[in-house]
Amino acid sequence: MKWSKPSLAILYLAIIYLVGIVGILLPIHPEFIRLTPLNLLVSLLTVLLFHPAWQPQSVLVLVVFFVLGFFAEVFGVHTGLLFGEYYYEDVLGWKLWDTPIMIGVNWMLLGYCCGVTINHLLPRWAWWQKGPVAAALMVFLDSFIEPVAIAYNFWEWPGGVVPLQNYLGWYLVSLPLLLLFAYLQGQIRNKVAIALLLMQFVFLRYSAGSKHKNIPMIQVLMYIGITLLTVLVMEFVAWSAHKYLMHGWLWIWHEDHHKPHHEKEGFFEKNDLFFLVFAIPSALSYIIGLATPQRWLLFVGIGISIYGLIYFLIHDVYIHQRFKWFRQLDSRYSRAILRAHGSHHAKTHKEDGESFGLLIVHPKYFKKRSEWNEKQKTNSE
Ligand SMILES: [Zn+2]
Ligand SMILES: [Zn+2]
Repeated sequence: MKWSKPSLAILYLAIIYLVGIVGILLPIHPEFIRLTPLNLLVSLLTVLLFHPAWQPQSVLVLVVFFVLGFFAEVFGVHTGLLFGEYYYEDVLGWKLWDTPIMIGVNWMLLGYCCGVTINHLLPRWAWWQKGPVAAALMVFLDSFIEPVAIAYNFWEWPGGVVPLQNYLGWYLVSLPLLLLFAYLQGQIRNKVAIALLLMQFVFLRYSAGSKHKNIPMIQVLMYIGITLLTVLVMEFVAWSAHKYLMHGWLWIWHEDHHKPHHEKEGFFEKNDLFFLVFAIPSALSYIIGLATPQRWLLFVGIGISIYGLIYFLIHDVYIHQRFKWFRQLDSRYSRAILRAHGSHHAKTHKEDGESFGLLIVHPKYFKKRSEWNEKQKTNSE
C-alpha cells in the first residue's frame, strides 16, 4: 500500500484525536485535558504544513484571524456584550487580559479549516457567497464546542446555560474573517484541513458530557431512547423527503444523482446540497437543546447527525463508492440494500420511482434478482 503525504498526516492526526477521545473518556489522568493547548498547536502546524501556496495574503489572513479572534474574546470577556457573560478558567493555558492566548490560535485553526472546507464544497461561488456559509459552519462547530468547554472548564457561563447571544456573537465575529478568507484565499485547497475539521466534530461529540455523572439512570435511558427513536424516524423523514420533495419540486437538485456514471463530472453533485439542508434542523436542535431547558432536543440533534453519518457511509461511500472504504463488505443485508437502491437508480426520471428508503428495504430484495417478480428486470446503474 502506498501512502501519500497528506494521507499520512491525516492518519497521524486521527491517532492523536483517537488518543484524545480515549484519554478523556477513560479517566486515565485528571489533568489529561490540559494537553488541549498542545493539541491545538500541533493541529494548526500540521494543517498549515499542507497549505499549498504561501503568499503574503495567506500570512495576512492568519494574522487577522489570530488578532481579531483574540481581541473579540478580550472584548467579550470584559464587556459581556459580544457572546454574553462568560469568563475563562485556566485549562487553556497562559492568559493575557483574562483571555487565553490559545483562543487566538483556536480562531486561526477553526477559521482556516472552515474557510478551506467551503472552498472545496462550493468551488464556483463568489467570495461574498462563500463567506456567510463558512461563518455558519463556524457557528455549527461552536455548537459542538460549547458542551465540551463547559464540561472541562475551558470557560464558564453563569448558570451553565449558553445564551443564544453567544451564537450570534460567533457569527458576527466569523463573518468578516471568513469573508476576508474567501476573498484572499478562495482558491486554497487543503484536504488535511477538511480531515481535521471532521475530526474536531467527532472528538467534540464524543468527549462532551462524559463528565456529567449526576444524571439519574432513567434520564440517561430516556435520552438514549430519544436518540435511537430519532434515527429511526429519520429513515421515514428521508424516505418521504426523497419521494415527495427530491422527486417532486426539488428534482432540480436531485436530478444529477440519477444521471448515469459517465455523464457525471467532478466530485460533488447538486444532490449534496441536501446534506446542508438536513444540517439545519440538526444544528437548530443542538442550539436550542443547549440554550434552553428543552434538553431532549439536543438528543434529537444527535440522532439526526447519526442518521446523516449512516446515510453518508452507506449511500455515498458503500453504494456509490465515492471513497474507497469497506468495498469488500458483504452480507445478506448489505446485498439487499445494494439491490434496493440499485432498482431506485434504474429509473432516471422523476416519476414512477421505487425504493426511496435506505435502511429499511422491502423483503423481496433479500432474494436474488432473478427471484423477484418478472417485471422488475431492470438493471442497476
Ligand atoms: Zn432518487
Ligand atoms: Zn443513490
